[in-house]
Amino acid sequence: NKQVILKNSVNGFPKESDMYLKTDSISLKVEQGSNAVIIKNLYLSCDPYMRIRMTPVDDPNFTTYPPGSPIQGFGVGKVVESEYPELKKGDLVWGVTAWEEYTLINNPQTLFKIQHTDVPLSYYTGILGMPGMTAWGGFYEICAPKKGEYIFISAASGAVGQLVGQFAKLFGCYVVGSAGTKEKVELLKNKFGFDDAFNYKEDHDLNAALKRCFPEGIDIYFDNVGGKMLDAVLVNMRAHGRIAACGMISQLNREHTEGIYNMMNVVYKKIRIEGIAAFDYFPQYAKFLEEVLPSIQEGKIVYVEDIAEGLENAPAALIGLFSGRNVGKQVVVVARD
Ligand code: NDP
Repeated sequence: NKQVILKNSVNGFPKESDMYLKTDSISLKVEQGSNAVIIKNLYLSCDPYMRIRMTPVDDPNFTTYPPGSPIQGFGVGKVVESEYPELKKGDLVWGVTAWEEYTLINNPQTLFKIQHTDVPLSYYTGILGMPGMTAWGGFYEICAPKKGEYIFISAASGAVGQLVGQFAKLFGCYVVGSAGTKEKVELLKNKFGFDDAFNYKEDHDLNAALKRCFPEGIDIYFDNVGGKMLDAVLVNMRAHGRIAACGMISQLNREHTEGIYNMMNVVYKKIRIEGIAAFDYFPQYAKFLEEVLPSIQEGKIVYVEDIAEGLENAPAALIGLFSGRNVGKQVVVVARD
């Protein structure tokens, strides 16, 4: 069983050498009556929160990865053995698994059984998985949008951002995104239908870039990055705006987070800042599928993925999230069936 192991607790920016490949010869077994299943992992998801788990964390939302163990994360797999009555051999599932070829799952009630296979299976790591639920709950519930409002999305071409932007367009908002390369900015405007977009690595004066894109100010900010961008956005928010605090990828590899100087704007403008937790929306997965799946099937929503081949390329794929190497949702293929 080939595995990707975390070597040690990570300091600063994660490196490929923080992980290594190992072949484990222990054969996995499900005990009779144990309720456990074994899955063959097909697609693994690379997500920014995985960096948080590579360092000891004192937060009830995250458990630290034990050094010497395989990395854990979301993925898509096929059931190869089952003692759990609701899953049988051959069923396809998505949920939390490990970075290895085969995984023993002791709590299979946390897995979602995949019913629709007329879309790429890898979508269950992205648009039809955890990032999709984040974008859906984050936009419709936390952002509380109104038709015609002005929304800004950072890390807009990524797994979550590309979807928030398309939901917002379909809803009738004016949508602007930022991303870190010219190619990603083109994707935002030409593939995902954003009204405007800018490259935050070239437009160094973020305040000026936001003023140019939003001469009348921003109603909704879907924040994927935190730091300097959040600070510049605060100055450009309109009264009674909402900020969905989805993630702060620009701060994850820092020992000390960067200061936010414009926080008093929250008070002056009565801005609502609210956090998102993808897990809060998992009980509504059936409703989410009912709404989102037809949009994919009818081509109203598109999804861009960046697919790395093989477990041996998984560490590079994961750390690439922090330099913006990924174009779209980063997935690792372990096996195709
Ligand atoms: P992406 O697919 O967007 O990949 C990460 C992207 O972040 C990179 O491609 C890069 O794009 C950008 N980035 C990396 N470093 C920086 C930096 N220093 N400053 C600005 N941008 C940077 O990831 P996801 O869509 O999966 O995640 C986006 C955010 O949402 C993350 O903060 C993540 O933690 C959060 N999240 C939160 C969830 C929740 O439940 N609250 C659930 C899922 C995700 P670019 O080239 O544009 O810089």
